[in-house]
Amino acid sequence: MLLAVTKTWPASDVEILYELGLRNFAENRDQEAGAKVGQLRHLVEARWHMVGRLQRNKAKSVVEWADQVDSVDSVRLAEALAKAAHARGQKLDVLLQVSMDGDTSRGGCAVQDVPELAGAITRSGDLILRGAMTVAPLTMEPSQAFEALASVVSGLRDDHPTATGVSAGMSGDLEDAISHGSTCVRVGTALLGSRRLTSP
Ligand SMILES: *Cc1c(COP(=O)(O)O)cnc(C)c1O
Repeated sequence: MLLAVTKTWPASDVEILYELGLRNFAENRDQEAGAKVGQLRHLVEARWHMVGRLQRNKAKSVVEWADQVDSVDSVRLAEALAKAAHARGQKLDVLLQVSMDGDTSRGGCAVQDVPELAGAITRSGDLILRGAMTVAPLTMEPSQAFEALASVVSGLRDDHPTATGVSAGMSGDLEDAISHGSTCVRVGTALLGSRRLTSP
């Protein structure tokens, strides 16, 4: 899957990508995304992912626009999302975000916490575990991190048969990620150019 990361870019750019055939889009801030998706309801086949760090108190707001949350990294966040998905009356697809070098300050849970978090997601009944996501850490060879993530996902599949997705690779390392098992690359800059703003 080519997931177009449209953060900081206007709704009109999403319309162009949609016309070119893209259907999967990602944002990293709830507020910006909510407004943008609201302007794009006419793109009926568009599917929206949240890929940024997420506070529990934003869960309710995120499920109003997101079809999938790719950055679930704690049991408490999973519980908040499950409650919000239940309230909206539609299950939410999620990925577990994993920090391959254990530096969880940049988002993601430690590898050893994956089984517990995956169990909490599946047991909630309102979330569907679709796999795992990572951002290549600064302290590790990206290819090593991608390989490790693919092996985390293959371990998950035994207990969680829906967990088949491996989201890894961005504009700078997507070929490397694909050759190490990625099934989803999250591409912003290579599609849309350099972002000038951190938020609109
Ligand atoms: C911004 C972002 C991307 C896209 O990065 P590019 O280098 O512009 O392709 C991918 N993943 C996440 C989580 C992001 O926040």
